Amino acid sequence: MSAPLLPPIGMLAELTHRCPLQCPYCSNPVELLKANREMDTATWLDLFNQAADLGVLQVHLSGGEPTLRRDLEQLIAGLSARGVYTNLITAGVGIADGRIEAFAAAGLDHVQLSFQGARPETTEMVGNQRGSHDKKLETARRARAAGLPLTINAPIHRHNIDEVPEFIELALSLGAERLEIANVQYSGWALANRDALMPDRASIERQAEIVEAARTRLAGIMNIDFVTPDYYATYPKPCMGGWARDAFMVAPDGTVLPCHAAQTIPSLSFERFGERSLAGIWISSPAFNAFRGTDWMQEPCRSCERREIDWGGCRCQAMAIAGDAAATDPACVKSPIHARMEALARAGIVAADRSAVPGSGFIYRRIGGAPQAENPVPSRPDRALAG
Ligand code: SF4
Ligand code: SF4
Repeated sequence: MSAPLLPPIGMLAELTHRCPLQCPYCSNPVELLKANREMDTATWLDLFNQAADLGVLQVHLSGGEPTLRRDLEQLIAGLSARGVYTNLITAGVGIADGRIEAFAAAGLDHVQLSFQGARPETTEMVGNQRGSHDKKLETARRARAAGLPLTINAPIHRHNIDEVPEFIELALSLGAERLEIANVQYSGWALANRDALMPDRASIERQAEIVEAARTRLAGIMNIDFVTPDYYATYPKPCMGGWARDAFMVAPDGTVLPCHAAQTIPSLSFERFGERSLAGIWISSPAFNAFRGTDWMQEPCRSCERREIDWGGCRCQAMAIAGDAAATDPACVKSPIHARMEALARAGIVAADRSAVPGSGFIYRRIGGAPQAENPVPSRPDRALAG
């Protein structure tokens, strides 16, 4: 029997899909929404009020690049007035003078700043923008000068996994309280770029040792969160803390989703804020109830002792790899197709052209048009590999 439904605690607000960078691992959907599909200020403020009424305690203001919204100060002030904790997730490039200070004055609680590399050339290559690393350093300094706590976010893949020790030093030098070493999750643009991004097992193991040693060395100085990679895992992560369990996200057009990639599950349809109240969607939307709790589970999850630890893992990964959103996440060793995960990773590494210049083979994230590789590496359809 599933536990009773509780109010959500966290919300990720994707204010816009616009972004000056073009990261090939971006978690946004491959079909990005243009500016004319974004909700206006009043509608976002209404949504935030309903979220606070529902029990939401923290809102992550994200995108795309949320600072491209000219009304961001107003949105922060609206949340702050309701006592909601606000975290700005930003790429930190192109933020006009005075704005970070204005965000702080409006009540912003925290800044999470991403670096595509610890070295300038890696940041520029992965985000596809010259000069971006220096702009990020400046954003970090301004955030700290404005008195804002700072997290550095380092999304990790084959092209920057050797820079983990430098990421740690970079975060320390910027006065960050927290560093998130997050192995890329292969959904959205990252799934389209999996072969070009996948690290090998030896690099993953080296990275884990470096992170563990740094955690011990820096205890009490800087927290290091480590998001482990699914493709070499034994058990899956509790994706979003469980489907529609304590958090949700809202796309720029107001579509309310249990997670980033939920729209890749073709059997589900999702409701938009305004067509229905937020509480109505949270409590009774068929898509939110589809994988809530444990009643939907098949074997081996149904009788597994970990079913209320990882909640069966990621539904979107089950859809992408197993072709069934209700299957056990293939990242789990108990999944009948678990071996396919590492086989896919190995196939991608073999397929990638290591003699090519770094970044070739990336499908850079862009609004409009179907994804096109700049210099394609061959990829293999998932189903072609035996489990
Ligand atoms: S991952 Fe890169 S492209 Fe995507 S929103 Fe963040 S900075 Fe922009
Ligand atoms: S069988 Fe299901 S519940 Fe058990 S560990 Fe694997 S994914 Fe988690």
